[in-house]
Amino acid sequence: MELLIDQSAVAQYEQHLAILQGAASFQSLAYIAAALLFILALAGLSKQKGARNGNFAGIAGMAIALIATIAIVMVTSMEPELVGIDAASGGSASGFAITSTGLWIAFLLIVVALAIGAAIGIFKAKHVKMTEMPELVAMLHSFVGAAAVLVGFCSFLTDPGAEGVENAWHIGEVGLAVFIGAVTLTGSVVAYLKLSAKISGRPLTLPGRNAINAAMVIVSIALIAWLINTRSVDAGLLPLCLLTVVSLVLGAHLVLAIGGGDMPVVVSMLNSYSGWAAAMAGFTLGNDLLIITGALVGSSGAYLSYIMCQGMNRSFVSVILGGFGGEGPATSGGGEERDYGDYTEATAEEVAQMLKDAKRVVIAPGYGMAVAQAQFPVADLTRRLMDAGVDVRFGIHPVAGRMPGHMNVLLAEAKVPYDNVFEMDEINDDFGDVDVVLVIGANDTVNPAAETEPDSPIAGMPVMHVWEAGKVIVFKRGMGNAGYAGVQNPLFFNENTDMLLGDAKASTDAILSAL
Ligand code: NDP
Repeated sequence: MELLIDQSAVAQYEQHLAILQGAASFQSLAYIAAALLFILALAGLSKQKGARNGNFAGIAGMAIALIATIAIVMVTSMEPELVGIDAASGGSASGFAITSTGLWIAFLLIVVALAIGAAIGIFKAKHVKMTEMPELVAMLHSFVGAAAVLVGFCSFLTDPGAEGVENAWHIGEVGLAVFIGAVTLTGSVVAYLKLSAKISGRPLTLPGRNAINAAMVIVSIALIAWLINTRSVDAGLLPLCLLTVVSLVLGAHLVLAIGGGDMPVVVSMLNSYSGWAAAMAGFTLGNDLLIITGALVGSSGAYLSYIMCQGMNRSFVSVILGGFGGEGPATSGGGEERDYGDYTEATAEEVAQMLKDAKRVVIAPGYGMAVAQAQFPVADLTRRLMDAGVDVRFGIHPVAGRMPGHMNVLLAEAKVPYDNVFEMDEINDDFGDVDVVLVIGANDTVNPAAETEPDSPIAGMPVMHVWEAGKVIVFKRGMGNAGYAGVQNPLFFNENTDMLLGDAKASTDAILSAL
């Protein structure tokens, strides 16, 4: 049969194919640009001065990635067709047509997905308090995990097991994406529940938990091997569903086994897992940018976890594997209640007088300063004291507050000069020469029990040696609540410590008035 086709239709058809080829090149270019911008973003964010530019680079990279992805989906969902007619039938040649139904469906789906995502994102961003950021981040990690599981299932259903090495790789990638995604999903949900105090922060120490974790990992590997050897949806669905269930349980158990004080490391570890989950989803989708971005997030999250473990004197392997092999205090529920004696209180006027008489003052802020939003009066107080010739410095513990850099952000917001802000390691040896330390809403990070009580859940965690100063004033609302790790703080009962009970902002305002 000979088909008659209008020459101008052929030209149009070839033009459209050229557009598709151009789109593929544009996609590669845009993805390379976005990947470079993401790397620049990480480089910028690693230093305080470059953080703003780093953020802009990240936003630009994400915008390019989004626009390129949407544009490509739109262009490739237009299906070109050459419509010829049978020469024998004697009719005249027809031409070239683009089937645009696919285009409009793709467009509609993207708009609906973007609208739902943007609405939830804007609502959350507007309402979330700074102190709730870690919960939000944990929740966002769970979305990445859920996405990887869904992408894995979708990819399996549309392209199930078949003969051939290439397909075995594909199904292996699906299995890994579902495994890492499901672990990230439930691990992040448990982290969210712990961080928002919806469940207890105490570690769950089931007997033989290391063996349980190891068994679940081995079963998951066996299920992936089974999945790879299946040749149809019907045969593969059972191992895939079993893999999902085992991985979901593993994720929850890994994070349940980690105690309150170690949660910062867990958050950055889940950040790393979510990156690997995204990278695996990138493999199953054949999307290079997702692979690169996932690998960047995965490796930088793993490195951050490593640094935090070093800072907190914890074993990296132990935390990554949900306390695997760690029989020490980090994972035990230890720390019995002790009677530390009586505490003494001071009034705002008395504290003002101490500050007036002091030459060297250190402020150790913590989570309570964030809750009270006391950073602004604290900055005023700092300026007043500095104007009066007092040497005022800030000592920042690496896990003070509820997210890495939490205190630095608050102090920068209140325009406290960077030069007066010191990391714990830079200031910890100087407390002996300090006249007054103001502990503003910090608790675990200044708890001497970490050094003196080996059975304490925070034993071994480096803390600020505030008790070595001449006088310590602790800002706290009452004596009933412990810090995040849930342990009593003997600092409060020391002879050189006075409690200034009340909301930290109100107390600082009262000191300012008294000054
Ligand atoms: P803590 O959580 O140990 O203690 C907070 C203190 O602030 C408590 O004494 C609390 O007492 C007091 N407080 C709360 N609200 C107010 C208020 N309005 N006015 C005055 N005081 C107030 O804080 P730290 O910063 O010392 O330690 C951080 C803890 O959080 C560590 O255990 C860390 O491991 C954990 N963590 C840190 C993360 C991070 O990335 N930085 C992430 C997750 C957990 P009271 O209620 O009586 O007022």
